[in-house]
Amino acid sequence: TQNPVAGQSFSIATDVTFAPFEFQDSSGNFVGIDMDLIRAIAEDQGFTVDISPLGFDAALQAVQANQADAVIAGMTITPARQQVFDFSEPYFESGVQMAVLDTDNEVTSYEDLAGKQVAVKNGTEGATFAESIKGQYGFTTQYFADSASMYDEVRTGNSAAVFDDFPVLQYGIAQGNGFKTVTEKESPSNYGFAVNKGQNPELLAAFNTGLNNLKSSGKYDDILNTYIGAAA
Ligand code: GLN
Repeated sequence: TQNPVAGQSFSIATDVTFAPFEFQDSSGNFVGIDMDLIRAIAEDQGFTVDISPLGFDAALQAVQANQADAVIAGMTITPARQQVFDFSEPYFESGVQMAVLDTDNEVTSYEDLAGKQVAVKNGTEGATFAESIKGQYGFTTQYFADSASMYDEVRTGNSAAVFDDFPVLQYGIAQGNGFKTVTEKESPSNYGFAVNKGQNPELLAAFNTGLNNLKSSGKYDDILNTYIGAAA
């Protein structure tokens, strides 16, 4: 049977910097697990993609406004988002964790955030989690559109911590970004590829079929290993 998306081109919105899922390499190309996955799935299913690195919140808004066909941006599948997006099968397990500067000897628990400010990124699960506990622990939140500005806010000393996804924290720390984790991970959650609710059902189906094919062929594991495996 002919794949209904074969030969079509889709605009895919993503975050600007969310390594190892999407980031620019030294030549300015957008690479990472999400980028390699969507390109490999497109190739497997015979469609093409036009990647738009808009920022996380902007990427979700673009899909909601039908200005982009889909989003892949380390986007967590949540019940609230399922009201307005249709998600693919989960493709990666993640979750929120706190990070502080490596040189910080003061903040070792959420209690130590009392009276301090925390940096979070617009529209993210990290921000939602920080909001859910800030009353209890007595800290305030400062919002940024992109991860680079959020991390810089802690480097300058204006904020004491960030709340971000743990695979992203682990990758950044291994790359020497000057941060460390001091608290446990929060509950796990899954990333999904998303389209606007009721829109692009054939693209969503093709993503799921392609993802399954990449898992069977070993290509999915190859992509993960490129960025986060023992060999990375
Ligand atoms: N996984 C988080 C979320 O969905 C963060 C995604 C991101 O910052 N790109 O909110």
